[in-house]
Amino acid sequence: MTPLPKKKHAKARTRTRKAAISFSPPTLVTCSNCKELKVPHRACPHCGFYKQEAKDKKESAKPNGTE
Ligand SMILES: [Zn+2]
Repeated sequence: MTPLPKKKHAKARTRTRKAAISFSPPTLVTCSNCKELKVPHRACPHCGFYKQEAKDKKESAKPNGTE
């Protein structure tokens, strides 16, 4: 015997569920080298720069002893 749905599966129910699954725009950050928008933790497509420093990190506040 073929398994069948016990109750009617309304189109509205499916469409309501599918409507909740929406695309979200990708998170973008500005490249610290060329100031173009890029995807975080990826190499910049404009200049190829990879390493990104934290915004609040200061050179003078670097703890000594690490390298
Ligand atoms: Zn760049």
